Amino acid sequence: MRRRTFLGTSAAGGMTVGGAEALGSASQTQAGDGPRSALPPGVTPSAYAVPHSEYGQFGTPDYFAYANDLVIERNRPGKPHKGKVLAAIQAHSDDIPIFCGGTVAKLIDEGYTGYLIRLTNDESGPVEDRGPNWTLGHGVYQSQLDNDAVAKALGCKKAFSLGYQNHRADEDAVIEIRARLIFLFRLLQVNTIVSYDPYNQYEENPDHSVMSNAVQGACWMAGEERDYPEHFKAGLKLGGVREKYYVGRAARGHNTINRIVDISPYIDVKVRANVAYKDKGAAGDAGLRLKRALASQGRKLPLLGNDDDTANFNYVKHFLMGDNRVLGAQYGLEYAEAFHYIGPSTTGPGARETRQRYIDTHAVPL
Ligand SMILES: [Zn+2]
Repeated sequence: MRRRTFLGTSAAGGMTVGGAEALGSASQTQAGDGPRSALPPGVTPSAYAVPHSEYGQFGTPDYFAYANDLVIERNRPGKPHKGKVLAAIQAHSDDIPIFCGGTVAKLIDEGYTGYLIRLTNDESGPVEDRGPNWTLGHGVYQSQLDNDAVAKALGCKKAFSLGYQNHRADEDAVIEIRARLIFLFRLLQVNTIVSYDPYNQYEENPDHSVMSNAVQGACWMAGEERDYPEHFKAGLKLGGVREKYYVGRAARGHNTINRIVDISPYIDVKVRANVAYKDKGAAGDAGLRLKRALASQGRKLPLLGNDDDTANFNYVKHFLMGDNRVLGAQYGLEYAEAFHYIGPSTTGPGARETRQRYIDTHAVPL
């Protein structure tokens, strides 16, 4: 219950900051459920506890700081992103599906050509009830298939795997990872990325930290003419990543949020993407394994249906999409994902075009 502390205080304190306004009445509803805060009078909270599913935390950190220009991104009719390229970049085969699979599916449905890029070989992962054959070698093999299956489920055109050793990315050179991403961003002409927030506080997984740091640098450097100029000799064009959807992941984390994406129309696609990875994570074949375990005890759960596919699908949707349901409910949405969205730079190409327009309009003969 400790995580509700700030919400309780917020309601009591009148909520004058942007984040509080963004949360609106939904936060005050939450406040009624929790204990009052021990914050002294006059102290305004700067972090807001994120309510989690009754089935446990799966897709959101403990705390958000809300920006006062929070936007709710809803489904856009037609194909407004036709001609644009999206790169969803993950360290492991389950990262994008868990934390932002709904948003990736939405953006692709709205016209983006999507690519899935995976940093590691995924050799490490929880064995749990998967059995003694779940070795490192099995992890490498199965996760390669999983990454392709996730890409397919999300509607991506192609999946890439960079093959760094799982849970050891902090011994790899960030400059090499960044250079490989710059190459891919230029090759694919990526406009928009979805990945982990580089400022993901309390992140325990070294692969996530290294990857997000490399992604951040690559987005900028792919557009710099004097970085890796041999790329242009080989026929590549300058890159230009203009939009970034950064998702907060660390369970104990605290992320700045300025965009809530309505993923309600894409929740079943997100569930399918989570069922698609079998080697690791809490989803995959978890429903089937539970069904078999119950059967060995002479029991069954009606939720899991009568076939293996239904067992996996319903397990993931009911137990693991809870945080997306709870987050969405705060905004009157069925399911949602939260991001720190960074749009086109005001000092980048857009600003240069505006400046050129001024020059062309106002320049006079000598
Ligand atoms: Zn991961």
